[in-house]
Amino acid sequence: MPELPELEVLRRSIEKTLVGRTIVDVTVGRKECLNMAPEEYASIVSGGKIVGARRFGKTGVIDLDNGYSLIVHLALGGLFVQASPEEFEPKDIQIAYHLDDGSTLLAAKLMLGNVHVRPTDELAEDNRIGKMGPDALDALPSAEELAETFRDNRTGAKAFLMDQSRIGGIGNMYANEILFEARIHPATELRALSADDVSRFHEAISTVLEQAIAAGGATDTIFADLDGRVPTHQETLKVFGREGQACPECAGKIRMIRLATRATYYCPTCQKKKYPRKKAAKKRAKARAKSGR
Ligand SMILES: [Zn+2]
Repeated sequence: MPELPELEVLRRSIEKTLVGRTIVDVTVGRKECLNMAPEEYASIVSGGKIVGARRFGKTGVIDLDNGYSLIVHLALGGLFVQASPEEFEPKDIQIAYHLDDGSTLLAAKLMLGNVHVRPTDELAEDNRIGKMGPDALDALPSAEELAETFRDNRTGAKAFLMDQSRIGGIGNMYANEILFEARIHPATELRALSADDVSRFHEAISTVLEQAIAAGGATDTIFADLDGRVPTHQETLKVFGREGQACPECAGKIRMIRLATRATYYCPTCQKKKYPRKKAAKKRAKARAKSGR
């Protein structure tokens, strides 16, 4: 699934390649990818000149000069690529945007993805944008602010990372990587994290996302950037999808558990579960009673 890094790679690519181009016509292959009738969609988008590319978490936005914006949601994966329609089976092309230089921008192989259109000043009415918390890359709260939020908070560390209303852009894959980088067990409650833990957690978010962007995103999906360049970051992931393999830090075995049904990978040695103070004291007392001391 494309997450923040993949969308940021796409955003930069659109900004570099497509700003200044005008969409002259639109062909719709799958009307379910739109939020209105194809004729209406085509009439709004056609004639629009691309003036900017933005990103909100894992949602992309392409601004047109006519007061409307395209909202790119790749969902489980898909291609947003400048290519000739002949390179694809017709059934794989959901939307084709024909540009004024004769080239075509394709939304292809979208699995549940869509490209809606809305007035630029009403983007917040899209829930993925309007209900999103601070962006994990552009607006990450400070470690001190996070520590304040985490006080008395029983949410698990991984659940927090994946909750888009708390922090925008991180999905299952990068949540696993960030927690490994921070050496935090995915199920540790936020309130159990020490100031040091929170500081590592905070730093790991930026480190993991920035490394992924620098590498061009991951190949977990069939996502590619505008040039169709396939990202290779998947090979450098440290725990995600690596059950039974050696931990790159301690050589112990990576384990997979299910948290809220999602596959969760971690190293049991490097990421020990921590308990809130009271609970930890109770646990120690129990262990003492058991050992008869
Ligand atoms: Zn380890």
